[in-house]
Amino acid sequence: MRKVKGKDNQAEMALRRLLWAAGHRYRVHHPVPDLRRCSIDVAFPGRKVAVFVDGCFWHSCPDHGRTPKTNAGFWAAKLAHNAARDANVTWYLRHLGWTVLRFWTHCTAAEMYEVVAEALNG
Ligand SMILES: [Zn+2]
Repeated sequence: MRKVKGKDNQAEMALRRLLWAAGHRYRVHHPVPDLRRCSIDVAFPGRKVAVFVDGCFWHSCPDHGRTPKTNAGFWAAKLAHNAARDANVTWYLRHLGWTVLRFWTHCTAAEMYEVVAEALNG
């Protein structure tokens, strides 16, 4: 998976800081098994918990996603492709027995942390 969403986003970094401070140890950009170009933003391979923090634009957040007016056809196809790939990765990881948690970058670190911690402790 090309890092179309750019560098580590701030929401993801804030979540990682909370997890680390709580003693959780994770891998970043952990490869998705068998899907060479896809990676998990924050992975707990031992617990099979995968966390994705998806950018609102690139992953078409229902609140903040939009299709640019310039080259609208290209962008519509591109964003639809991203959404399909996200769904495919989620499906595949769940098929392998992973718990998949997806968040938007507009979520607060505290919100995300609560859900991730519950999955890790559950
Ligand atoms: Zn959003």
